[in-house]
Amino acid sequence: MQDVTRNITGETKIYGIIGNPVHHSMSPEMHNIAFREHGMNSVYIALPTSHISDGVRGLKALGFKGVSITIPYKQDVIPFVDVIDPVAEKIGAINTLVIKKGEDSSEKIVYGYNTDWIGANRALEEKISLQGSRVLVLGAGGSARAIGFGLLEAGAEVILTNRTAEKGRKLAGQLGCSFYRTDELGQIQADVLVNATSVGMVPDTEKTPVPKDLLSGFKVVMDIVYAPLQTRLIKEAQSVGCQTVDGLSMLLYQGAAQFKLWTGREAPLDVMREVLYRNFR
Ligand code: NAP
Repeated sequence: MQDVTRNITGETKIYGIIGNPVHHSMSPEMHNIAFREHGMNSVYIALPTSHISDGVRGLKALGFKGVSITIPYKQDVIPFVDVIDPVAEKIGAINTLVIKKGEDSSEKIVYGYNTDWIGANRALEEKISLQGSRVLVLGAGGSARAIGFGLLEAGAEVILTNRTAEKGRKLAGQLGCSFYRTDELGQIQADVLVNATSVGMVPDTEKTPVPKDLLSGFKVVMDIVYAPLQTRLIKEAQSVGCQTVDGLSMLLYQGAAQFKLWTGREAPLDVMREVLYRNFR
């Protein structure tokens, strides 16, 4: 890692990530390399935060230009945002703040967005056109919610399943899509499978959310779990001939969408990808 502090001046624009914990986040490396690649006088830092209301007030007072929001504040931040993007409002979660002066006032305005769904869609669109595709989403947590609404934005047909049927039915009702219990997985036909649960994540890497003998019907299988990168689901999907998308791809593209919102520039994907995948070699 190069020394980013050598470029810091009185003009440096400050960005960061708010959450608790944030020490493990790969976003500082990913965004700092992107700023450097564009020769921008900007820096991105981890900001462990214990009170979200104080956190957002502090960002405005201290002149931050934007931040990522992560667990546990993606929902809790909503009341402290002045303008929320319509898709983020439907999802009910924000992972990106942009802070800037209003057009006709010197007041700072906090804009809230969700780029998780953009990241998932862009990662999938590398393999298949989502418009008109049938997508089975596993899970009913925060990520499944963002991905579900995002898939509908792209014109996909969504089907949902979840371990806890009550939670799954509730989300399916909000998405306006059909729900299947996990013991009915064998009855579902879809083009794409997205694992938006934490099944298969370290330390339980021997687990998989869908038996191997049910995978061959899917053209594309995406696992949003990225620790490990090659989950059992990804390996088994490859072995039966599916195209696969790993969890870092979603992380990369959600970060690229944040970079665009903050800077107005296209994110330098190659260097950002290199930083992310370096941690998994
Ligand atoms: P979450 O809100 O806690 O939801 C967890 C989901 O996983 C729920 O649907 C839960 O089902 C299900 N689940 C957990 N353990 C299970 C088990 N043993 N068997 C079956 N289902 C199980 O979590 P989240 O924020 O959506 O995150 C989910 C995963 O995505 C995590 O591994 C996270 O690291 C990863 N993630 C990746 C990215 C990326 O960019 N690639 C972004 C965000 C999150 P119940 O409702 O039955 O509990």
